[in-house]
Amino acid sequence: MATLMLLAIAVVAFVIGVVLFRSIPVLRAYFTFHGKRLITCPETHDTQAVDVAARKAAMTAIFGDPKLRLDRCTRWPERQDCGQECLQQIETDPENCLLWNIVSNWYEGKRCVYCHKRFGRLGHLDHPPALMAPDRTTAEWNQFRPEHLPELFSTYQPVCWNCHVSETFRRVHPELVVDRDRNIHHSL
Ligand SMILES: [Zn+2]
Repeated sequence: MATLMLLAIAVVAFVIGVVLFRSIPVLRAYFTFHGKRLITCPETHDTQAVDVAARKAAMTAIFGDPKLRLDRCTRWPERQDCGQECLQQIETDPENCLLWNIVSNWYEGKRCVYCHKRFGRLGHLDHPPALMAPDRTTAEWNQFRPEHLPELFSTYQPVCWNCHVSETFRRVHPELVVDRDRNIHHSL
């Protein structure tokens, strides 16, 4: 009986050991491949937004290298049967194609066109900064289709969230805004 007990304890300890040992690559795979990414579609050569099935990648990491499959693509459902060759780009450099990093890198170091406050890295808990279109309308960056952002970044200007809110209010309700600074400028 005692031998059986010892054997049971050994088996349980082994299983717990394996689970703990493999939990690191599992978690790493999940956090590496989680999140929306921008890739160049190998078929059309334009930018598309994709999501890797991060949970499946994590589960396959239990047994070895994580296996990547797409969970979503802006060309789906029309091209849902594609070969998913774009996964190679994600495997090669998962950090650089992450939408969050692309947007954060674009804002970082730039200044808001209104208040000239310098942007740092994007924070997940902060209000999202905005973009000003050539017609001077502003919208938070996450209101745009992700695959359009790289192109918009060449013609749109960065606006901080506070200025976006106040400028939107000014635009929508011009009759309610008393803008002393601007009145001074106009009268000069
Ligand atoms: Zn500002």
